[in-house]
Amino acid sequence: MTDGELRLSEFRPRTSLRVPVHLVETPKYPVVDAHNHLGAAFGGEWADRSAAELVATLDASGVEAIIDLDGGQGENLSAEIDRWAAAGPDRVIVVAGLDPDAWASDPAFGETEAAQLRDSVARGARGLKVWKTLGLRARDPDGRLVAVDDPRLDPLWRAAADLGIPVVIHIADPVAFFDPLDATNERWEELRGHPDWHFWPTRPDDDPDAPGVPSFDALLAAFERLVGAHPRTTFIGAHVGCAAEDLALVSRLLDEHPNLNVDIAARLGELGRQPYTARTFFLRYADRILFGADMGPDPAIYAIHYRFLETFDESFDYGTDPVPEQGRWQIHGIGLPDDVLRKVYRDNAQRLFAMGPV
Ligand SMILES: [Zn+2]
Repeated sequence: MTDGELRLSEFRPRTSLRVPVHLVETPKYPVVDAHNHLGAAFGGEWADRSAAELVATLDASGVEAIIDLDGGQGENLSAEIDRWAAAGPDRVIVVAGLDPDAWASDPAFGETEAAQLRDSVARGARGLKVWKTLGLRARDPDGRLVAVDDPRLDPLWRAAADLGIPVVIHIADPVAFFDPLDATNERWEELRGHPDWHFWPTRPDDDPDAPGVPSFDALLAAFERLVGAHPRTTFIGAHVGCAAEDLALVSRLLDEHPNLNVDIAARLGELGRQPYTARTFFLRYADRILFGADMGPDPAIYAIHYRFLETFDESFDYGTDPVPEQGRWQIHGIGLPDDVLRKVYRDNAQRLFAMGPV
């Protein structure tokens, strides 16, 4: 290396800022963590841990209930529900999944998934999780990507409405994951560490037969058409409606589609770097935003969420890694008022997942 140069991977700046610090280890009101993973997905940190261990972790962080999005289908789903039953009634709410790998050999995949969903609810599932494979990876029997608003899935969305369960849906990914991986990409380090998260090249929006994946904008447009086409179905757009970088867009979607709600899972980095816009967003849509942490229950992560939502602390880390994992910036608290906190922490999730008092 040339004198005076420093590798980005070795840069560990230490802040000189002296500002008030308010650590918040337990929330001001009980919390429902409406977006998390207790199964084998995402590293599977909780796949082999016990209900007693989970209860202790949740209790330490003031989490009254947790929504486990890793239910899957069939016997796996039943096993996941059984595994957490010892945690107590309504402590772990298990949500069913889809089987998009099977769509490639099933021309009636929409009907099949609808029937599976009815079976899942009979087994005790309380919602449906749809992952970003829809629109980006899942293929039909002709080998074509299944679009987010593909009408062949209409039976599934109608079944969710008939069963009265919400659909937690994650479409696309951070905007930077759809941009070239060059020196201007704000998530360069993250994408370099996870090359499979990079959706590139994207195809032109007017040519669905071109090679490459749909653009971020095309995926979000299809998401809006989906939500608009199924007003009886309750959708929870994961990760701040799948567009945390653009709260004006999410606000418009919420204004135009009363069946849409959002969770904040894994997006403190985005919300907290636009604290004024984020605070206005929370105040305006207090009845439509659900708390969620993602990536396994973790007291340190919960504490950062509580600090962001409850205090006006400035310039703090949104994660626990030495290098901020989603980009090299810090976040600022938005000091939400009590009535908004109560709704975001618990009331909205209780209503949408039909838990306890409504
Ligand atoms: Zn998740």
